[in-house]
Amino acid sequence: MQNIYNLTLKDLENYFVEQGDKKFRGTQVFEWLYRKKVKSFKEMTNLKKELLEKFEQNFEMKTIQITKVERDIDVEKYLFELKDHEKVEAVLMNHDYGNSVCISTQVGCNMGCKFCESGRLKKIRNLETHEMIEQILTIEEECGKRISHVVVMGIGEPFDNYDNLVRFIEIINNDHGIALGSRHITVSTCGVVPKIIEFSNLPYQVNLAISLHAPNNELRNQIMPINKAYPLEILIDTLKKYIEKTNRRVTFEYILLKDVNDQKQQAKELAELVRGMNCYINLIPYNETNNIAFKRSKQETILEFYDILKKNRINVTIRREFGSKISAACGQLRSKKEDEDEIILHDRHRES
Ligand code: SAH
Repeated sequence: MQNIYNLTLKDLENYFVEQGDKKFRGTQVFEWLYRKKVKSFKEMTNLKKELLEKFEQNFEMKTIQITKVERDIDVEKYLFELKDHEKVEAVLMNHDYGNSVCISTQVGCNMGCKFCESGRLKKIRNLETHEMIEQILTIEEECGKRISHVVVMGIGEPFDNYDNLVRFIEIINNDHGIALGSRHITVSTCGVVPKIIEFSNLPYQVNLAISLHAPNNELRNQIMPINKAYPLEILIDTLKKYIEKTNRRVTFEYILLKDVNDQKQQAKELAELVRGMNCYINLIPYNETNNIAFKRSKQETILEFYDILKKNRINVTIRREFGSKISAACGQLRSKKEDEDEIILHDRHRES
């Protein structure tokens, strides 16, 4: 059975036309789903009874369930169980500019980044578009707040699930639905070059973030296997073309790993690598995990690294930390879930 949240507005319109009905029914249904956020077809009160019956036979609605929530200041982490009992996670972050959700795109991940919890588990399958959409709808319903921003930075490599990702963007961006502005959507990739090129041809103005994490091929090859397929010179060249074509600024994410990629010389090398590009670098304090030996850089090392980039006139920020207490980094909740089953309500206020 097809899931209704897989369909773009165009798909719905085509469906109605094929059924010998009017095209505008597509917009009606789309609005019921994403504006009024109905939970059953019966609530679509302006549709004929026969049509609703047909809908019930042909389409399913929600398939994912929350199995665990962890809360910390300004952050909530959700673990979801999918229809086939696989698990993925998403994170809600409250910013002063709005509420953003970080969603997963795959069960597991094949990219094998050495510092990343998600990569320890090989990809089991891609998420369907509806499973990405449902993460947002379910969190919105659960927290009662409007989601204003979406970042595609959870479990999985979005560009390894490209078609479902693009369909997802089309649906959440559409004016008749959730209507998230493309500037409020960010997709993060470890650097799948052919898909970056395809992405630059899309009509959306979605933000692109690149997980860089190393300033040279030697180190990047060691910690990110994707670099062997698409080494830095090819990645950077592709991004320069992307920027030229889209006129958009690219974000580089750079996790600081103690004694691995956080040395002064590496900061200088990084500045040289991106010099002249319309970009900014987001330095990310590493979230340590029990299963992986990498350590977080000391705060003073992070600040020194930041200063060197600043002195080199590179746009740079240090990522505000959300949820290091609740293991909010990619894949961490899912791996914890294997040992625990209860709902943890963690509230720092209550501790003090
Ligand atoms: N596969 C995509 C998106 C998922 S990872 C990508 O690589 O961009 C999202 C971001 O979280 C990446 O920059 C990733 O490198 C980073 N990340 C993974 N594990 C982390 C950890 N333990 N602490 C901090 N950031 C982490």
